[in-house]
Amino acid sequence: MKESEFSVASPLIIPVFLPWQGCRQRCIFCNESITTGTFPAAFSEAAFEKTVTLYSENQKRGKSPVQIAFYGGTFTGMDRKEQTRLLQLAEPYIREGRVDSLRISTRPDEIDEDLLDFLRRHGVRTVELGAQSLVEEVLRHSRRGHTVGDVFSAVERLRRKGFEVGIHLMMGLPGDSPQFFAATIDRTLDLQPDTVRLHPTLVFRNTVLATLYARGQYSPLSLNEAVGLSRYALLRLEKGGIPVIRLGLQSTPEMELPGNIVAGPYHPAFRSLVNAAIFRDMATTLLSEARSEGRAVSFFLSPRDVSDFRGHKGENLSLLAERFRPLKIEVTNDPDYTRGWLTLRIGDRSISMHRTGLRPILS
Ligand code: SF4
Repeated sequence: MKESEFSVASPLIIPVFLPWQGCRQRCIFCNESITTGTFPAAFSEAAFEKTVTLYSENQKRGKSPVQIAFYGGTFTGMDRKEQTRLLQLAEPYIREGRVDSLRISTRPDEIDEDLLDFLRRHGVRTVELGAQSLVEEVLRHSRRGHTVGDVFSAVERLRRKGFEVGIHLMMGLPGDSPQFFAATIDRTLDLQPDTVRLHPTLVFRNTVLATLYARGQYSPLSLNEAVGLSRYALLRLEKGGIPVIRLGLQSTPEMELPGNIVAGPYHPAFRSLVNAAIFRDMATTLLSEARSEGRAVSFFLSPRDVSDFRGHKGENLSLLAERFRPLKIEVTNDPDYTRGWLTLRIGDRSISMHRTGLRPILS
């Protein structure tokens, strides 16, 4: 089996969260104190060193490049002095070879040429842009304060200056629909960012969205809808060669506290749910094609995919056994398989497929 198209050589990221710093407005869905947890309002040199050292000690570096990432706000919206101070805190780590480069997250309307030269001089190589949607109407309803054109020109400027570009997208924002979300994915494929992060909109306490929800003016996606849209986006982006480096928000202890998530399709292992849906469809396709006529069958796949294949509490296996009764289904993990491939064997016959062979259906 050839190398899976969706495997990514990800860098080891040491995150330094700067909640809301540099943000000139509060987006209607955003509650950084829940999504990033508790962090100091301004990072002192000692706090910075503690964060980087703690993280480095707990992670195996291996061959992956290491990046310090300034996340959680609008980095380039901060006062230039504060940007310089933070970037200089990271400089010794780059000089000593403990860290390869820096990454920042920011808004698409906070990018200008002069600023990009400044960032490059200080070791920034990756910029993640909060685009959230590439449909004007959704941006307007979500009061993002920037346009789709801002995203396209920011990506173009970043590319021209040689930065790696990541795009953050959300689904289920106010004004969004499956068709608008599909248009966002079309435009993301046009943009060809290096990476994408994607998550469903959740309603957090103390946000405008929570007020809209309480008034009945906003309905979040159900978990099933969010999984279906994510399956669609993941398959299209993988086929287009764009790695989705995160699907679903990173869980924080604050998210688990009662009342902090008011509504919305939260699941701590959201990506696994989407992968399980993909494997269920692959297995169904192969079993339908193979016409096993009740004989025992075996699925072969990478050990790293077995848990997604089985699904949450073995749900996939139960559903397949029910649908293809009285078939006996076995699962064998084979270390020679790369992720994303699935082979069905019936006696001496076998058929295989890669997950990108599935049709991305908009549900
Ligand atoms: S720009 Fe980002 S961090 Fe700032 S309020 Fe909006 S979503 Fe939150």
